[in-house]
Amino acid sequence: MKRKAVFFDRDGVINIDKGYVYSKNEFEFNPAIFDLLSFYKSQGYLLLVVTNQSGIARGYYSIEDFLDLTEYMQTQIKSKLGFGFDKVYFCPHLDGCNCRKPKTGMFEEADMDFGIDFTNSIMIGDKQSDMQAAQNAGIGKKFYLSIKKPDFSEIQGLQWVIALQQIQTFEEKEK
Ligand SMILES: [Mg+2]
Ligand SMILES: [Zn+2]
Repeated sequence: MKRKAVFFDRDGVINIDKGYVYSKNEFEFNPAIFDLLSFYKSQGYLLLVVTNQSGIARGYYSIEDFLDLTEYMQTQIKSKLGFGFDKVYFCPHLDGCNCRKPKTGMFEEADMDFGIDFTNSIMIGDKQSDMQAAQNAGIGKKFYLSIKKPDFSEIQGLQWVIALQQIQTFEEKEK
């Protein structure tokens, strides 16, 4: 049976986007992420990360730096919640690949790993490229987290939120 998943962008969603974050000192969790992860876990969703990490291609940090930080992130979440993300997908490239959002390579990889029910899956991101990638992958519901109203309109099933806390409220109202 195919699984429904929540795809989380990392910078600007899981942690505060400070620009090319690669060290623990700079990795500041969005405090609302923990409740949201618990909520979706309780609803039976796979919890996946899809993150563009062009800082690697740009030479700002290495894949090892990224993986170390990922391990730190997972350990912190596990210590609070008892579980972490089911898998973390990242694109280390800048161009010429099939995985940098809005392309769909990371979503296809997730489909190969788990078998994803994209129609009933969710994307949470803070950039237009996240929303476009989700649309390209056939994800039904998209949460656009931004203090600014989206200035693009070609995305279906988009819900604009200014704070992560609004997402659970929105989901519970829909039930
Ligand atoms: Mg982001
Ligand atoms: Zn890539």
